[in-house]
Amino acid sequence: MADVTHTPRVFSGIKPSGGLTLGNYLGAIKKFVQTQDSEMETIYCVVDLHAVTVWQDPADLTHATREVAAGYLASGLDPAKSILFNQSRVSGHAELGWLFNCVARVGWMNRMTQFKEKAGKNAEKQSLGLYAYPSLMAADILLYHATHVPVGEDQKQHVELTRDIASKFNHDFKAEGFFPLPEPVIEGPATRVMNLRDGTKKMSKSGESDMERINMTDDADKIAKKFRKARTDPDALPDNYEGLKDRPEARNLVDIYAALSDTTAEAVITEYAGAGWGQFKPALADLAVDKLAPISEEMARLMADPAEIDRTLAAGADRAREIAEPILSKTFDIMGFVRG
Ligand code: ATP
Ligand code: MG
Repeated sequence: MADVTHTPRVFSGIKPSGGLTLGNYLGAIKKFVQTQDSEMETIYCVVDLHAVTVWQDPADLTHATREVAAGYLASGLDPAKSILFNQSRVSGHAELGWLFNCVARVGWMNRMTQFKEKAGKNAEKQSLGLYAYPSLMAADILLYHATHVPVGEDQKQHVELTRDIASKFNHDFKAEGFFPLPEPVIEGPATRVMNLRDGTKKMSKSGESDMERINMTDDADKIAKKFRKARTDPDALPDNYEGLKDRPEARNLVDIYAALSDTTAEAVITEYAGAGWGQFKPALADLAVDKLAPISEEMARLMADPAEIDRTLAAGADRAREIAEPILSKTFDIMGFVRG
């Protein structure tokens, strides 16, 4: 249902928990860049507070924060059109995150499939932050009264939780309509790019093996090698997309091709019907190199001047704070905190 009471505003973020992958690019960054030319105000974040929910070596966190920012900029994100900053510079995220920890219910968090996947059999040994992170994510979005959240498929449940938190807050504090109920925006052929070695798992920057993902900084040889070694079945490509229904690895490569070439998976299948992997994989590698090489070159150029990246992030944080502060202040008022 469309939100009619709030000005349309977009918020999304990426964790500096490692180097950017093709999944981050196709599922998130590419869409962020497209959205910045719409009428909506766009706010994009490097969510460093989320990264530390699992151990990050301090030097790696610093590097990854700048590298995610460089990835955004190199892909075409324009700080004049979008607000770009890193989360920890705007303290309102952590403050509203705490308030939402007191709104969200333990039962809701227990249903979050991503925690179960990430924690595996070691749930007891995970940080409390990893368990609570969806409530901080709700704060990231609602601190700006954002109405639209472009994300990959894996984040759908967390945006739904954000709606539950907004609704419960509005209801409990008799503040109907104060927080918007944001919509996840999950569109296109690459909303869930899969792991190249196991088509049932998503590609992640923190995944175990480097061979399971394409990194935004991989060179042409590495990209070609990873696609060549990507797991597939022995069959040729079918002549319709339905034919890929039970072939997750094959479908993934076709979806990636479609997203990289800005077309549909159906169009790719029509073009490559009957083709074997010996033909399709090199074509996919060439396409990926074509699209990614200019971005990784620009990322390297930007990373040579970290001070400039830091200045961009600091300026973005100033603009973010201007939007966030009145909303946070009003939230404290609604809850009855004495602040005057
Ligand atoms: P981590 O393994 O540390 O969780 P990640 O690769 O999942 O890293 P995130 O920072 O958690 O990256 O997610 C950033 C954005 O990228 C989110 O919108 C998420 O939905 C999207 N995204 C992540 N992986 C994929 C993927 N494989 N396909 C499509 N979108 C993805
Ligand atoms: Mg993730």
